[in-house]
Amino acid sequence: MNLFDSVDTLKGIGPKTAETLRKFGIKTVRDFFYNLPKDYDNYEAPTSISQVRPGKVVIRGKIDSLSTRRARKRNLSITEGVIRDNTGAIKVVWFNQNYRVRQFSPEKEYYFTGNFELKNGRYSLISPSAAEVADIDPQTGLSPIYVAHGGLKSHDFRRLVANSREKFSEIPDLLPTVKSGTRKNALFYAHFPNSEKTIQGARDYLAYEELFELILAAKLNRQENEKLKAAEIPFDKAKIQEFVASLPFKLTNAQRLAAWEIFQDMEKGTPMNRLLQGDVGSGKTMVAALAAYEAILQGHQVAILAPTAILATQHYEGLNRTLEKFGVKTALLTGATKKKSELKKEIARGKIDLVIGTHALLTDDTEFSNLALVVIDEQHRFGVEQRQKLLLKSPSGLAPHLLAMTATPIPRSLQLTVFGDLDVSILNELPKGRQPITTKILTELETKETLYPQIQGTIQAGQQVYWICKAIDDDPRTETTSVKSRCTKLKNTFPRAKVEFLHGRMKPAEKDEIMEKFSRGEIQILVSTTVVEVGVDVPNATLMTIENAESYGLAQLHQLRGRVGRGNKASFCYLLTSGDMRPSRRLKELEKSTDGFYLAEVDLKLRGPGEIYGALQHGALDLRIASLSDTKLIRRAQTDVVQFLKNPDNMVKYKELMSGISKYQQLTTLN
Ligand code: ADP
Ligand code: MG
Repeated sequence: MNLFDSVDTLKGIGPKTAETLRKFGIKTVRDFFYNLPKDYDNYEAPTSISQVRPGKVVIRGKIDSLSTRRARKRNLSITEGVIRDNTGAIKVVWFNQNYRVRQFSPEKEYYFTGNFELKNGRYSLISPSAAEVADIDPQTGLSPIYVAHGGLKSHDFRRLVANSREKFSEIPDLLPTVKSGTRKNALFYAHFPNSEKTIQGARDYLAYEELFELILAAKLNRQENEKLKAAEIPFDKAKIQEFVASLPFKLTNAQRLAAWEIFQDMEKGTPMNRLLQGDVGSGKTMVAALAAYEAILQGHQVAILAPTAILATQHYEGLNRTLEKFGVKTALLTGATKKKSELKKEIARGKIDLVIGTHALLTDDTEFSNLALVVIDEQHRFGVEQRQKLLLKSPSGLAPHLLAMTATPIPRSLQLTVFGDLDVSILNELPKGRQPITTKILTELETKETLYPQIQGTIQAGQQVYWICKAIDDDPRTETTSVKSRCTKLKNTFPRAKVEFLHGRMKPAEKDEIMEKFSRGEIQILVSTTVVEVGVDVPNATLMTIENAESYGLAQLHQLRGRVGRGNKASFCYLLTSGDMRPSRRLKELEKSTDGFYLAEVDLKLRGPGEIYGALQHGALDLRIASLSDTKLIRRAQTDVVQFLKNPDNMVKYKELMSGISKYQQLTTLN
């Protein structure tokens, strides 16, 4: 058996099954073994039907009288039957699982596990899992649950895997260094568990394998990067001091340190690959400006990429104001830019020093004459491919230095694994004089009494308000208030205030206009979707309401909240929850803390990395099993990878490993 043989070389997998499997990404024997159960049913200690009580139960019996009917509600089919043992009978119901009618034979015995509960006036076993008694080890009662793929249901996978049971012993190890067991055992016990303990052992082993791959990929990315050449940009102390002295404020120590780290990176002939993490409002843009000025002083060009046109425009205005007097030529390039082709020609001829734009800047036909530094602001994926593109844009053949900035702090564990190829600078200090943000959870019912008077007071004090809504338009199916109807409501409540709305479907020019008016204080209440999420800077805005707060992730809420508290006035953030559900842990944490790093750790634990860093679509975070909060295992893998890399022969020897990690190398760096 070869792990890379096609999946249909396995016993019992014919062309039709193979086709379904392939459609779901299970192409090889290896893929098949690694299609791990998502969970396990435990059929241990069944209850006799006469003893069954409401709640989760395990039952052993035969099933008959199966039939399926359509419910009155569209898109719902109901499959019902009767389960009997020698003490009695109960009704069983499945929803939208028509195949259940064909799954069972009346003379065989099955285990069922699910909730026994009252439904439509009658107690039934609701949507239980089921497994044939003959297939389950009576000692353990454990049965794997597989994700259904097309026509292949969990029990089909159990059958297919059982057909290949003896093949597991032929699986070679993937890694050289695992101390706790073998891959063949880990995979075997994942599919054929004989106790909870063996399941855990299998998971630990496979999690370690996964982390090893991830960390190895990150380290190899770093090595690849170090082979590239970049412009050497010497530090110009006098000019930088002059620039810093021109600023209306003193840099924070954290800003100084970060800038210093960046200057040192840029002096080297290898491309910088640095992530600047800093909580909202910590002044990342100024650090980027220092780096940009330093490169421009040496006659290079710099590109700054922002995630939205609004933000690009704001950066452009701020940076142009700061840098213009030092002779820096800055240009804005977004979808709305007029005379684009002329501007592009100027960029290509090196007439523009600093180009600020959205991501499209890299993908379209923009050419640079001498691009030496790329700054990516907030949430941007920047992969090997993009770096490759930039290389092509650089006639000198030099790779640009890269500075990525994020306000979503990346927990330590992710830094070691997924982001292991980046150097990190941290702004852990807010500029002096910042006032704290007070955060409060409110139910919608409290709006009139508590929130409106606050808003009134804020407006009267000459300050401004953000009101964040989930949807742009009303949707009769949900109860969320849309941007548009909220805007109307607020206009009625605050007739003397100027209330406007903003959302992502507006034309860029319209958005810019609204944003500019808000910046100039001509709008008092801005009702908006999350387009204001990243980076927008209006220090006079001191109150934010986030409607349907429960529908956002913690990191995103923290980001949104960061739009206020940017000036020297006390700020407030109200989290409106709909309905009368108790506030979630997420919202309570947000109420308690304004520390982005702390919140990121909590978010990682509560939701897992896939949700938070969702922009990394290449699957690196779809870890099958490893948890990126398992710091101990991460450290062990880390040490072993370092050991592994010490012997260059390993790269040749461990072929399966090396080909497997290419999927992680695709993505490299940052979201
Ligand atoms: P973020 O890190 O969220 O991107 P910004 O770069 O937008 O933060 O900075 C937030 C605000 O703080 C801006 O108005 C900026 O001019 C200001 N700022 C930056 N550095 C300092 C500083 N050292 N002292 C005072 N204000 C600063
Ligand atoms: Mg910013």
